[in-house]
Amino acid sequence: RAKMEGRGTWRFFEPAMDASLQRRRALELDLREAMAKDEFSLFYQPLYDLNLDRICGFEALLRWHHPKRGLVPPDQFIPIAEEIGLICPLGEWVLNRACEQAVTWPSEMKLAVNVSAVQFRDPDFIDVVVNALAASKLSPRRLELEITESVFLANSNETLATLHKLKAQGLRIALDDFGTGYSSLSYLRSFPFDKLKIDKSFVRDATATHGSKSIVRAVISLGKSLGMTTIAEGIETVEQLNHMRAEGCNEAQGFLFSHPVPVTEIAAKILELRNGFKPPAVQKAMAS
Ligand code: C2E
Ligand code: MG
Ligand code: MG
Ligand code: MG
Repeated sequence: RAKMEGRGTWRFFEPAMDASLQRRRALELDLREAMAKDEFSLFYQPLYDLNLDRICGFEALLRWHHPKRGLVPPDQFIPIAEEIGLICPLGEWVLNRACEQAVTWPSEMKLAVNVSAVQFRDPDFIDVVVNALAASKLSPRRLELEITESVFLANSNETLATLHKLKAQGLRIALDDFGTGYSSLSYLRSFPFDKLKIDKSFVRDATATHGSKSIVRAVISLGKSLGMTTIAEGIETVEQLNHMRAEGCNEAQGFLFSHPVPVTEIAAKILELRNGFKPPAVQKAMAS
């Protein structure tokens, strides 16, 4: 170990390094067993159609219930799953589970599923999608796959071919976290996206800073002119909602409408949001 080198500076850094490496190693070991131990579940967050003014679907969000650590957020374990080769079986489980679930919803409800760049590049990925649709009998028109700009770090001819094959199945492709990654406007011209998901960092600032406001306006108009739907993620306030609506954004998603919920609460969410959305203040006023 570094201590043996007898250098003061190394010794200074060592404990902190060790702690984070140990945590990561422990998570890695637990993650390898988590699937067999049935520690994963899917939560669902409503997608809201701003034009129809009603709920239009759900995004599936993966949760890991660690027996000792409690809930481990996906941002912490998905990168590990990608590194240790677990993301493909895990992603396949997510797709199968979410499609099985979505087929029980009213038919106008869409299902959005996140796909990791590593999973997207897997040669079996298209078969996995086709099989999930076939096994569940979910109409491909109800499925939306969310990918991030990181898929473009790899061979773009292959990426393009995969996107076309997926679209040929009849499903839609959304570009998640738009604006945070390696975005180049040329991707939007060359790749067949159906939807742009405006990242929550822009949504948060759009009502406060002029720069974010302009970016949001530009993204929405870009989406429109390219025939893509736009959705604003991370809507937390009525002000943000009103702003996105006024800017002509098509859909919205965020804690204001609902936090991600377990599958047992889906039916109640549909009932709650199918005839419009009453912001909490309005709900309170109506109750009193
Ligand atoms: P994402 O796909 O961009 O999902 C949106 C994230 O924002 C979710 O975090 C959601 O809970 C959170 N969120 C929703 N509304 C609000 C809001 O109003 N305010 C704030 N501050 N946050 C909000 P979550 O569930 O922790 O997921 C984080 C990321 O992990 C996801 O980002 C996605 O990239 C990834 N992820 C989640 N599930 C899966 C999965 O099944 N497969 C893959 N490959 N990645 C997944
Ligand atoms: Mg997403
Ligand atoms: Mg996102
Ligand atoms: Mg994200």
